[in-house]
Amino acid sequence: MHDVQDCIFCRIAAHEAPAKIVHEDEAVVAFEDVGHRAPFHVLVIPRRHVDSLAGADAETIGKVGAAAARVAKAAGYLESGYRVVANVGPDAGQSVPHLHFHVLGGRSLGWPPG
Ligand code: AMP
Repeated sequence: MHDVQDCIFCRIAAHEAPAKIVHEDEAVVAFEDVGHRAPFHVLVIPRRHVDSLAGADAETIGKVGAAAARVAKAAGYLESGYRVVANVGPDAGQSVPHLHFHVLGGRSLGWPPG
């Protein structure tokens, strides 16, 4: 059984840990990344805990992805563009084991990532 208290993103989703929430609904929560790597850097998570993209069902991935596009559009990045990234596992540098899509915008983003 997953313990909400052990997961910082579950605690944010439950409003038990502080975060600058920019969007939330019954399925997802979007909040500013504390380590912001771009002028706009928001994380979109499912409320229901899943460790990463690897373990997520298609409905969850769809809701998180659609919310990522919505928050980027709402913040005004439709024309200039933005990036959506999900790190999975050690080689990608995933540091929080609760599925999250990074949404980055507001500057030219290098490719490929480091
Ligand atoms: P990743 O390295 O892909 O797992 O991304 C985890 C992200 O979560 C990092 O960019 C962190 O800056 C961010 N992060 C960690 N803890 C918090 C928190 N309490 N509130 C907001 N962002 C966080």
